[in-house]
Amino acid sequence: MSDQQLTCEELVEIVTEYLEGGLSDAERERFEEHVVVCSGCANYLDQIRMTIELAGRVTIDDLMEETKIELLAAFRDWRRE
Ligand SMILES: [Zn+2]
Repeated sequence: MSDQQLTCEELVEIVTEYLEGGLSDAERERFEEHVVVCSGCANYLDQIRMTIELAGRVTIDDLMEETKIELLAAFRDWRRE
């Protein structure tokens, strides 16, 4: 299980915990490995970080719902190509 590659969907699910420091070392490692090889998730992470900075407070929960839906739709489009 711990050797398994993180999928984009899994990453989206745990990004909040990642930013809040709630992941274990192993989980954080898998998260960072995925972001290095997946530009879609790297952009997503940047976007969330930037939004949090601009907002000056953590409003991830509201943000998550919208961006999560958009991102997952984008992943489905990529797969169709
Ligand atoms: Zn990804």
